[in-house]
Amino acid sequence: MRPLTTIELLNVWEAGLQQTLLEKALHLLRVACAAEDISSIASLSVGQRDAHLLQLREWLFGFHLLNKATCPTCAETVEWETSTRDLRLQTPEAVGLQKEFTLERDGFLVRFRLPNSHDLRRAMSQVSYQATPEQLLADCLISVQQQAQEYSFAELPATIVEALNEQMAREDPQADIQMLVNCPGCGQQWEVRFDIVSYLWLEIESWARHILQEVYALARAYGWSEQDILRMSPQRRQLYLDLIGV
Ligand SMILES: [Zn+2]
Repeated sequence: MRPLTTIELLNVWEAGLQQTLLEKALHLLRVACAAEDISSIASLSVGQRDAHLLQLREWLFGFHLLNKATCPTCAETVEWETSTRDLRLQTPEAVGLQKEFTLERDGFLVRFRLPNSHDLRRAMSQVSYQATPEQLLADCLISVQQQAQEYSFAELPATIVEALNEQMAREDPQADIQMLVNCPGCGQQWEVRFDIVSYLWLEIESWARHILQEVYALARAYGWSEQDILRMSPQRRQLYLDLIGV
């Protein structure tokens, strides 16, 4: 993976105007990882995908994060700062590496993979997953055996399903980042999920608007083309903006 150039990031932002949030994130990583297709990026476990996005965010906008949430008790807006370094629980691994895991308990041998973006997309678009969320878990099973006999997900005891859930969370910790928030107004304490996908996309949107305003100001003042302006380093663009008092 490598950081995107200004022109690449702007192209990803523009394509994203027609895409869902999940598609935007996958497209962003496809360019950063120079992957041949979106499918290989969507096959990254959710934790791995988010570890890649967090790394990309550090390269694009730095370590500092400003978070916001509304207190569920008194509705006050609470703001707090964190660093991406404090949220990093996994190191980005190579795309195309699909790992298999095993769980052994009570005589059962369960082979499984971790949930990925293909699974999330299916779960978001099909109603059946909303009624039975454990279907997502069933999709990740590769095989279930007890004394050389094959079992289906529906036949698994609840204790095994629970252990499977717990092991999946342990193997892919970046997939679910919870932050403990304290409300200074009323003292309420609660947990907020940090979603790097929506956080980073909001930043890219604001960055794109800002850079297009810069292009407009520079093109108007100097007559340069959009591509020429975008190919400049941010420092050089800023210097020319200073010269025209923007
Ligand atoms: Zn409060």
